[in-house]
Amino acid sequence: MHFIVLLGVPGAGKGTQARRLSATLALPHISSGDLFRENLKQGTRIGHEAQKYLSRGELVPDEITIEMIEERLGRLDGAEGAILDGYPRTARQADALENMAGGIVRAAVHVEVPIERLVERMSGRRVCREQGHVYHIVHNPPSEQGICDVDDSELYQREDDKPETVRHRLRVYEERTAPLIDYYRERGVLVSVNGDQPIEAVTEKILSSLEQVATR
Ligand code: ADP
Ligand code: ADP
Repeated sequence: MHFIVLLGVPGAGKGTQARRLSATLALPHISSGDLFRENLKQGTRIGHEAQKYLSRGELVPDEITIEMIEERLGRLDGAEGAILDGYPRTARQADALENMAGGIVRAAVHVEVPIERLVERMSGRRVCREQGHVYHIVHNPPSEQGICDVDDSELYQREDDKPETVRHRLRVYEERTAPLIDYYRERGVLVSVNGDQPIEAVTEKILSSLEQVATR
């Protein structure tokens, strides 16, 4: 199994790019944030355990997160790999991924966006109730306001996208997740891409960088 990991601050565009890469590369898109929100909605044990962390913008403890991801990776249904969006976010999660039997991180893509862009990204983000499809009221609007283009479900604003929680999530990112950039650089699989350009341009850039990693 080979993985493409997406790294970047909250709001960098990881989910947006992961979904597009998933379609182009024919690999499943696995988002830890989406999985937690799905567990919350379904009222599962993991959902109950994760709830307070999500609403405060804290990371869910590693044991719970690793358990959830390993369970999901255990049913890839024959896919030869996956695009990982939002996982790993701590050194321990990265180690768990590295030690997973038969798994290899082929590339870690750092989507770079200046911090001052993020408030606008987060305040305009809208997500669909049904399947978590992501929009932006200005930069990536649905064809009909408030309705998902794909499944017609309602669009809502995430509770943790309010400015206070966003600021906290950024601090958590700097402390816990940013060190993974060096982690993957040391392993020779890091690619950095300018995420501060139109969505299509970012995808093009990621795809060409992935080819370069493949031939290194
Ligand atoms: P964003 O898209 O803004 O980066 P996510 O949807 O990926 O946010 O994550 C939302 C929340 O889910 C996080 O703030 C955290 O509480 C939890 N979460 C997601 N992925 C992880 C992870 N790998 N480890 C711990 N907590 C996570
Ligand atoms: P992340 O998963 O990293 O938190 P998202 O993919 O959810 O980020 O994107 C955050 C918000 O920014 C969403 O509203 C999305 O539509 C918007 N967005 C994503 N990429 C871009 C881009 N290149 N330019 C402008 N807005 C973008």
